[in-house]
This record gives sequence, structure tokens and C-alpha cells, in this order.
Amino acid sequence: MDADVIVVGAGPVGLLLAGELRLGGAEVTVVERLTTPMTESRASTLHARSMEILEQRGLFDGLETPPNLPAGHFGGIRLDLSQQPSRFPGQWKLAQADLERLLADWARGMGTRILRGYDVRTVTSSEDAVEIGVHTARGPKRLRAAHVVGCDGDQSSVRRLASFDFPGLPATRELFRCDLTGVDIPDRRFERFEDGLAIAATRDGVTRVMVHEFGRWPVRRTSAPEFTEVASAWKRVTGEDITGGAATWVDAFDNASRQVSRYQQGRMLLAGDAAHRQMPVGGMPLNVGLQDAMNLGWKLAAVVQGWAPVGLLGTYDAERRPAGRQALHMIDAQAHLLLGGPEVDAVRAVLTRLIELPAVRDELAAMVGGLDVRYEQGDRLDGARLPYAVLETASRSTTTTELLRAGRGVLLDLSGDQTRGDGLEQLIQDVPGAVKTERATVPDGSPLAGIDTILVRPDGHVAWTGDCDSDPTAALCRWFGAVKEGRYSPARSGSAHDT
Ligand SMILES: Cc1cc2nc3c(=O)[nH]c(=O)nc-3n(C[C@H](O)[C@H](O)[C@H](O)COP(=O)(O)OP(=O)(O)OC[C@H]3O[C@@H](n4cnc5c(N)ncnc54)[C@H](O)[C@@H]3O)c2cc1C
Repeated sequence: MDADVIVVGAGPVGLLLAGELRLGGAEVTVVERLTTPMTESRASTLHARSMEILEQRGLFDGLETPPNLPAGHFGGIRLDLSQQPSRFPGQWKLAQADLERLLADWARGMGTRILRGYDVRTVTSSEDAVEIGVHTARGPKRLRAAHVVGCDGDQSSVRRLASFDFPGLPATRELFRCDLTGVDIPDRRFERFEDGLAIAATRDGVTRVMVHEFGRWPVRRTSAPEFTEVASAWKRVTGEDITGGAATWVDAFDNASRQVSRYQQGRMLLAGDAAHRQMPVGGMPLNVGLQDAMNLGWKLAAVVQGWAPVGLLGTYDAERRPAGRQALHMIDAQAHLLLGGPEVDAVRAVLTRLIELPAVRDELAAMVGGLDVRYEQGDRLDGARLPYAVLETASRSTTTTELLRAGRGVLLDLSGDQTRGDGLEQLIQDVPGAVKTERATVPDGSPLAGIDTILVRPDGHVAWTGDCDSDPTAALCRWFGAVKEGRYSPARSGSAHDT
């Protein structure tokens, strides 16, 4: 084997996944077609949950937090994000190229091998391994691993070569996008004209324009459109002449919406745009992909490390496919609102009023920010992400974010009961998986107040919550491997919260 896991694609999703796999102890090789890192300005928005994830792994340590915008949009209609229940409400502006550099340094620093100039051409899966054939400048090569994950974007080779079923809706509308220097046009935030939609934003001397002519069907293309085509569309929609500008990058994209019907086929898996193709709007696709990587990393690492309980890896598809479907719905709805002509004006007018209602605003803001993802519907926090909270341990003041830094699960005992804490510590010694215990207290008003015990997964989602006399054994077995039976009898001496 050349690695435990080969990740195809050094985009943001592949790089985050590689880091997560390394944290879990897996040997990882990333193969990437491009010989040098991507420099185009693609997605530039990180949403609240992505910021939480990156902070959780310490990726902003020593760096300035990216610039923040308190509002985003839903289908071009202003959406206040400032009330999101997160440490990072709003939109955070980080160019994709910078995010990729950050993630690559982190993953490489932990021992990930990144092979550039490796274009995957074949994928062959057998009972105990997957072999990929790659084209390199020095000729063809073959690499073998126990698992291969395709993080190779919306035109995924892995998806095609491994014949993943990829149903969905075909494209019905086309948009142009380009980066320009040397033009002086006003910023336009999702401005609707009689004949189309225009967006312009200038940052650091570069103007990103996007334009759609209402009713414009996609054209079959084998290469990017010429700038003159974009300039003509811009002129027809806005009346402005941008032909004097110099285009550094031109691109056409569409509103196709597809999702693979399974995220896993034996030893091959998909994550990010390779698993779901959607209109790239508002940074949502990238942010959904980062959550795929967080969900998959520790589970796949557990499999190759040999401690994964039966069915653990299967929960990747079971959890992320519905989450991806919901995100696609959100994006499709926005595409409809953005690209529809006068026929959507009435719906837009109604939504513009509704979005001011706190309940509507908060629901949409949670969805856009990735904060609503819940893998299980239970009491309290079960299945939800662990909220940020300050924790007081016997020796230090810490936070839930810090607790998850190492990428291990945590059995957090907040009961304040010595016997209970001792019992949990003893129990955890018999758990084969990557989980530790921590005893702490939380101040009044904390989002964790009133909960005695919380089992948190390495991806920051709550696996289980319990009272002082509840037994976490079944939850530990389910997520971190079989615990020897009869080692723990729940303490019944009462918790600090009982009083
Ligand atoms: C041109 C473009 C512009 C975009 N602009 C925006 C935007 O303005 N706003 C927005 O929200 N989103 C935008 N997006 C979408 C956003 O960039 C993606 O959602 C995000 O990058 C997905 O991350 P990923 O890691 O899944 O895939 P990608 O970032 O696409 O990474 C896939 C990687 O796999 C590599 N690869 C592909 N095939 C192979 C192969 N056969 N062998 C080896 N390596 C391979 C690619 O070179 C690439 O580095 C844009 C995407 C593109 C392509």
C-alpha cells in the first residue's frame, strides 16, 4: 500500500479531509492534477459553521480573523446573519486560494503527502484495496490504498470512473463570471434589471462581475467563454461598457443540481463538489463540502486504525447525504429567485417582507450558516453541533473549542459528582476508540447548563447526552467501539444539577 487513504484533489475539501485523517492517525496521500496551487478567486465566503470548524482545529492561531460582513443574502434578498447563535455570526471573507494554502500547510505539517501533477485516469477497486492509475509528467504511475476518496470537484474523475450514480436536475440557465482590472463601475449587489441580473464587487483593484440574461439557456462548451461574450451580456443587461477592462479570468456556470445516490461504494467515497453539484452561489457549496470532510475524516481514520465499530463508516452517507440534499434545496430555491425573470417578482416581494420576521430570518440564517445540521433528533443537543461554551476544570479555564482541538471524542462530565466522574474515567479506559474524558463545570446561563454528561464526536457533533445516573456505554459502543460489559454502574449519588 502507498497509503491508508488516497485523497484525489487538493481543493479545500480534500485538504481538510487529509488533515482530519492525519489527526485520526491514518497515512494519507493527496494526489492533485494541478502542478501548482490554484490562484483563481473562486468562493470567498466562509459561513459560521465553517469558521467554527477551522477554529476548532486551531487554523486561525496566530492569524488575524478574516473580515466579517454582518449580512448575507438569500437568493439576492438581504439576510441579516448577525443574530446567528455562533461565535462567528455573519459572512467571513477569505479567498479560496488563501483557504487552500492554510489547509495545505496544516495538513502537510501533520505529515500528509501532497503529490502535484498527478492526474487520476483510472480507478480499480478490489476486495482489499483500491488502485489508481495517474498520468504524470514522468509517465504513468500506479498507487494503491485501502480507501480512495474523490474530492476532485464537480467534474469528478473518481465519480465517473467508479460509475457513481449521479441523478438530479440538468442545467436550464447560464451565467457568466469574470475578474477584471481597469474598469470603473459601481458595485451592484444582486441588482435586477429588466433583462437580467448583474453583480459587481471591487476589492483590491479587482472587479468580479457576474451576469445572467433572463431566460438564457446554457450552451455546450468545451472551453471558457471569451471576455467579449461576457462584456456583450453585461452591456445588454446594465447598459455599461466594460470592454476597456482586462479580464484575468472568465468562466461560465449554470444551475444544474445533482447529488450522488450513495456517498460510498465499497472502498471508494466522495466528498464536496464531487458528491453534490450545485450552482456556486454565496459560498454554500464550499461550506457544505467542508462539513463532509469533517464528518468523514475521523470515521475513515477509525476504520484504517482498526477500532471503528460496525456501521460507523456507513453513517457518513446516512448523515451527509440528507444534509447535502437540504443544502441543494436551499441553493435551488436561491437559484430560482435569482435567475427567474419577472415571473418570480411576486415571490421575491413576499419573501422580502417575511425575511424581516425574526423566526424566518433565524431559520434561514441557520441554514445558510450550516448551523442547523443535526444528525439525530433527540432531546437536548443530541446530533447537533456542540455549542461554544466556557468550561472550568480543576486546573484551568478552557472552552469547548479547545477541547476538540486534538480531533478526539470527548466524554464531558459536567455533573460535579466525584463518583460519577471516577466511573466515567474508568469506563473510558476500556474504549478502543479515540475518546477521552474531561471533568468540568459551566457557569449559569451556559448553553450546556443543566446537562450532566455529554459525549462529543471528533467532528464536534454531540453523540449523546445523559443525566447523572444514565449509562453512556451504548453510545460509546456505537461511536467508539465495544466497551467490555459490566465495567460501569452509573453513579446514583446525585448531581450538582439535582439541587
Ligand atoms: C471556476 C470556479 C469558480 C467558482 N466561484 C465560486 C464563487 O464565486 N462562489 C462560490 O460560492 N463558489 C464558487 N465556486 C465553487 C467552489 O469553488 C467549490 O464549491 C469548492 O471549491 C468545492 O471544493 P472541493 O474541494 O469539493 O472541489 P474543488 O475546489 O473543485 O477541488 C477539486 C480539486 O481536484 C482536482 N482534480 C480534479 N480532477 C482531478 C483528477 N482527475 N486528478 C487529480 N486531481 C483532480 C482539481 O484540480 C481541484 O484542485 C467556484 C468553482 C469554480 C470551479
